[in-house]
Amino acid sequence: MQAGSLSSDQRPVRVRLAPSPTGTLHIGTARTAVFNWLFARRHGGQFLLRIEDTDKERSKAEYTANILEGLQWLGLGWDGEPVIQSARVELHRAAIQQLLESGHAYRCYASDAELTAMREGQAAAKQAPRYDNRHRNLSPEQEQAYIAEGRHAVVRFKIDDAAVITWNDLVRGPMRWSGSDLGGDMVIARRAPADAIGDPLYNLVVVVDDAAMAISHVIRGEDHIANTAKQLLLYEALGAAAPVFAHTPLILNAEGKKLSKRDGVTSVSDFKAMGYTAPALANYMTLLGWSPPVGMGERFSLAEAAAVFDFERVNKAGARFDWDKLNWLNGQVLHELTPDTLRQQLAPLWAQKGWGSEAGSASADPSWQQDLAALLGPSLSLLADGVAQAEPFFTCPPLNEAAEAQLEIEGARPALAALAAALEQRGAGNPLDAEAAQALLAEATASAGIKKGVLMKSMRAALLGSLQGPDLLETWLLLHRLGDDLGRIRRCL
Ligand code: GLU
Repeated sequence: MQAGSLSSDQRPVRVRLAPSPTGTLHIGTARTAVFNWLFARRHGGQFLLRIEDTDKERSKAEYTANILEGLQWLGLGWDGEPVIQSARVELHRAAIQQLLESGHAYRCYASDAELTAMREGQAAAKQAPRYDNRHRNLSPEQEQAYIAEGRHAVVRFKIDDAAVITWNDLVRGPMRWSGSDLGGDMVIARRAPADAIGDPLYNLVVVVDDAAMAISHVIRGEDHIANTAKQLLLYEALGAAAPVFAHTPLILNAEGKKLSKRDGVTSVSDFKAMGYTAPALANYMTLLGWSPPVGMGERFSLAEAAAVFDFERVNKAGARFDWDKLNWLNGQVLHELTPDTLRQQLAPLWAQKGWGSEAGSASADPSWQQDLAALLGPSLSLLADGVAQAEPFFTCPPLNEAAEAQLEIEGARPALAALAAALEQRGAGNPLDAEAAQALLAEATASAGIKKGVLMKSMRAALLGSLQGPDLLETWLLLHRLGDDLGRIRRCL
């Protein structure tokens, strides 16, 4: 059977993301969203969202909210209202009824104990576990007898061992599956009394919904490949046009294993909380499996990627998660921000620490904060770095060992004392600019008879408590505006 031949490239492009709200937005799902979004934008198509909430026990409204929020934050807006799968259950049941009537499906009364015994027998004979289709051809009398016993039935979809399922995968090329590798007739509805149809299950529900939503291309992780073979059989049995499939490579951890919860951070909200920016994360996820055309470089926006995205440049091999590259991209994004935008992103993080939020204080002044953001910006790779590096500006830091040692150098303290005296003479409230600051440094250097470099390093030690930090003059001018420079110098004398 040529199930794949039912699919057509000619339909208007309509793709979908179909997350299950049984957890927060996982990086793998978000990457699938990126590829769907890029493909839709590239072809002027629609990117739809379907919340697959049929697992009532594990689905939670808070997870749906987290998924929608994460997609929006990443800039992966969807078209129209999200489709809620659980609201469509009667349509799913109608499709199962259709399959029962057309003879593609049947009720199976095998009990859990019987199925367990069957599987144990297979294990003992070293056979792969599969349903042996034992209830495929029950006579009406046998069926009545099971019903009379009070047994409930699942509904199974017939999968012929001899079936050959082929499709042309946009990532993996020609695919071929044998019906005998699909585990026997597949359950499409949970157990229910014989006059009812139980809860419809994943493969059936996805096919019914994708067909109803006129999805042209199903783009999802390669862990769904075996499902695709089963789903193509369902499309054919239901007389629906199958979409084109593209199975994207898995995301792997540093050891080359599938990235999982055990690897720590896996949710988009975790990355956000760690200080990654949405453009960097979206950019990075695009690179997880897709190679940009030569000359494009690795730093690009989603819109730039959408202009050239295609599946020919999606790799078949798993994509290894590379923190260094993500950090580098995040740094690039932060360095591109205007000081005002950077301030807007950092200010809430500073405020969480109680910094710069006291109304009327000099450190709460947006223009002071913007200058601080501009000073720190070039050295940030995470927004969180902008919290750590801002700390000595908002609170007077103790001197570390290297700073203490710096102040022991001959002439260091006398030079600082001369500088402090000169500053005091000018008056603490007197504004200081770069030129005046340079002049004060030159005077103090001359009066203490030391090299300018020694005084600069000593100033850094006094002001920041450490020999590391951004441009000294800018640092000093910022602290001067807080009226905080003189005190920090004086404490060292
Ligand atoms: N709800 C399924 C999942 O999250 C959707 C798979 C699909 O795209 O068909 O894995």
